Amino acid sequence: MSDLPIVKLKIKKAMPVIAGHPWIFSNAIESVSHGAENGKMVQVFSNENKFLGVGFFNSNTSIRVRIISRNENIKIDKDFFVENFLKLEKLKKEFLPKQTTGYRLSNADADYLPGLIIDRYDDVFVFQIHTLGMDAYRVEIIEALKSAFSPSAVVERSDIEARKFEGLNPVSPEVHFGKIVSPIQFEESGIKFFVDVLNGQKTGFFLDQRDSRRECGKLSNGKKVLNLFSYTGSFGLYSAVNGAARVTTIDSSKDALELAEKNFRANKIKFDGDDFVCADVFEYLLSGEVKCGEYDLIICDPPAFAKSNDRVEQAKKAYLDVNKMCLSLLNIGGILITSSCSGRVTHEDFKNVLKIASGQTKRDVRVLCELSQPFDHTERICFPEGKYLKTLVLQVI
Ligand code: SAH
Repeated sequence: MSDLPIVKLKIKKAMPVIAGHPWIFSNAIESVSHGAENGKMVQVFSNENKFLGVGFFNSNTSIRVRIISRNENIKIDKDFFVENFLKLEKLKKEFLPKQTTGYRLSNADADYLPGLIIDRYDDVFVFQIHTLGMDAYRVEIIEALKSAFSPSAVVERSDIEARKFEGLNPVSPEVHFGKIVSPIQFEESGIKFFVDVLNGQKTGFFLDQRDSRRECGKLSNGKKVLNLFSYTGSFGLYSAVNGAARVTTIDSSKDALELAEKNFRANKIKFDGDDFVCADVFEYLLSGEVKCGEYDLIICDPPAFAKSNDRVEQAKKAYLDVNKMCLSLLNIGGILITSSCSGRVTHEDFKNVLKIASGQTKRDVRVLCELSQPFDHTERICFPEGKYLKTLVLQVI
C-alpha cells in the first residue's frame, strides 16, 4: 500500500471515476488526509475505502485531483512516460489516414496524462504543460520523448494563459532538444504543410480539424471556395488539391497568410495575389465585397469566442452573426462548413445558433454531416468535458 495522502470521496461519487472520468471535483470529496500538497500526488478512495486511482492534487482549482493512474504502486518517472508514450503511439497511429505524419500523441487528461498535450509533426515533438502536477516532470517528459522516438527536436509551447488556473505562469516557447529550422514540414493525407512550432497558434497547427478538412476536400471538386479564418490555409488547401475551381483565403494575421501561401506553393497549387486577403472577417463580409452566390462552399472556423464562462452569451452572438453572414451569401445548393471550438458552447447551443441563423436569413438548411475532433484527440465516453470541437456541414436547399 502506498503512503501517499488520501482523498476520500463522498458516498455514491465513485462510479464516474471507476468508469474512467479523470477528474475529482471539490464537491465530490469527503475528506483530504494530512500532507496533501498542491501539485503532489495523492491516492483516491471511495467512501467504502476502495482504491480508485492516484493523481495530482491542487486546491487552487475546483478540479481537486486529476487521475494519472489506476495502479496503486505507480512511480512517475522517465520509464512511466516512455511506456505511456509508446502505448499511445500504437493507439493513435493505427487509424491515421495514409501519408499522415502529424497527430496528437497525448491529449492530456483524456489520455490519463493530466495537463500534458503532445503534438507530433513528423520527427518533431511539441508539448504543452497546463497543470502544476505535470509541470514538475518536464525533464522526465523530454528524456522520455528522446528515448521513445529519437526525435530531431523537442519543443515546449507552454506559453498559455490556462496555466494561471493552476497557479502557474505562462513560459516562453523553448527548444529543449535538437534544432528547429522554422517552419518545419509534415504531411496530412499526402498534403504538405509548413508549421511554425515556435510562434504559431497552439502547437503550430490545428491538428484537430483533420476529419473536417477531409470532408471539405470531398465536397470541393469544381466549387468556388471561401475559406474564412483560414490560419495556414488548411481547409482551402484540401479544396484546391481536390479540384476546387477557385479558393479565396481570409485571415486577419499576415504571418498566417504568408504560411498559407507557402503551403499552397509547396503543393504546387497555382493562385493569384488577390486569392489571399488579410482582413477582419466581420468587416470584410459586411463591406459587401463578396456577392451572394459568388462562392459555392464557405468554411467558417473562427477562434474560440468563449474563453471563459462569462463570455458564453457574447460568443453565441458572435457565432450567430458570422453564420448569418455566411448563409446569406449562399444560393440554393451552397455548402457551409461551420465550426465552434469553444468547449463552453455545447453542441446543442451551437446547433441552436445555426437554427436561428437559418431562420433569420430565410435559408432552408439540411445537415450533410456532423463532425468533431478526430480519434487522436481522445474523447472518453465517460468524460464529456473532453469534447470541445463541433463542426457542421450544411447545405442550403
Ligand atoms: N481553420 C484554421 C484554424 C482557424 S484558427 C485551420 O484549420 O487551421 C482561427 C484563425 O482566425 C486564426 O488564424 C486567427 O488569426 C484568425 N482570426 C481571428 N479573428 C479574426 C477576425 N476577426 N478576422 C479574420 N481572422 C481572424
